[in-house]
Amino acid sequence: MKLSQLRKRLSGDHNFKGHTILGSMCTEPHKIAVKTFKRFLSTNVGDPGLFPKLIELEKDYIKSLGQLLSCEAPGGSVVSGGSEANILAMWTARNRAQKHKREVIISEFCHFSFDKAADLLGLTLVKIPVGSDYKIRTDLARKAVGENTMAIVGIAGTTGLGVCDPISELSEIAVEHNIYLHVDAAFGGFVFPFINGSSKFDFSLPGVMSITVDPHKMGRAVIQSGCIIFREKEIEESLKIDVSYLSGGRAINRSILGTRSGASIAASWMVLNYLGYDGYRKNVQNVMKLTDWFVNEVRSIKGLGVKVQPECNIVGVCTTGDINLKDLIREIRKCGWAVSEWPDYIRIAVMPHVSKRSLVKFLADIKRILEFFSVNN
Ligand code: PLP
Repeated sequence: MKLSQLRKRLSGDHNFKGHTILGSMCTEPHKIAVKTFKRFLSTNVGDPGLFPKLIELEKDYIKSLGQLLSCEAPGGSVVSGGSEANILAMWTARNRAQKHKREVIISEFCHFSFDKAADLLGLTLVKIPVGSDYKIRTDLARKAVGENTMAIVGIAGTTGLGVCDPISELSEIAVEHNIYLHVDAAFGGFVFPFINGSSKFDFSLPGVMSITVDPHKMGRAVIQSGCIIFREKEIEESLKIDVSYLSGGRAINRSILGTRSGASIAASWMVLNYLGYDGYRKNVQNVMKLTDWFVNEVRSIKGLGVKVQPECNIVGVCTTGDINLKDLIREIRKCGWAVSEWPDYIRIAVMPHVSKRSLVKFLADIKRILEFFSVNN
């Protein structure tokens, strides 16, 4: 079997260089990330005795992300993605809570990784409705606090619409009742710190105990790269497992995985140090400029609208009047576009690989489809 045959076999898949992917929260990694990842491909920080320098680099990276999120001496790890990070946060909160406390207060629009965490850890998610802004209703969250509450979760950049829950209010509730507050900023963690005036969601809020941030989304790193950051190193101690047969009995494991990619750490660290905060800010400014332009274009098309004014580079495109969303999505897909389908809107993620040219073409295709619908109805 030759590589060319494999390429041929997989050639029907979308790819980020092909300009057809409009619904993904991942993107083409930065060139420097790809180069670094390849160089450290065979490293495994699950065996720390072999790669002590990479372990140091991981601490360095977590410290830098902590500082970005207003924490001077954080704990945490580079993990496989947002799902693993969220599960680790819930695992930590459970280990720290009294045995009868097993309820988690969370938005009805939380990522499905929390359903997995609940199933794995024997937790109950108390899903709180959102308001007209698609953010968790903090009045209802407050009412839901009870004797069995183990944790509260806020989302900074929801999976569907990219909005930020009122984390400062959740922090107040958490502090008042001494409850663990986790923030899922898998998407927003590399976006909101670079948008002036965006909602606070980080460790500057006293209730926040841990934050999920994904380098493999807006961090421009390589899949699989996620991060769990803890306010203090002590918090993650409850995850600690001693591995006696590695590193002369000195190995400690605090993740779900055993074997763990050192290449993800090296590549994530490299992008951060190559781009710096200024590079990320520029990156976010570019996607936000394109997002604003796209939203205006969508609003100018009869039969289309946006679900909510975007707070970041995620846009929920909905239909108005008698346009059937499912019919529209079917026709969009026939044109070759890969969009993310939600019950009452299409999610467009204006990621760094998405160009204005492809959005112009996408909108032209939509206009043509809508004209066809109006002639044939
Ligand atoms: N949290 C949020 C808000 C997400 O949007 C996602 C993924 O889209 C995740 C967590 C899970 O991340 P991953 O797919 O890297 O496991």
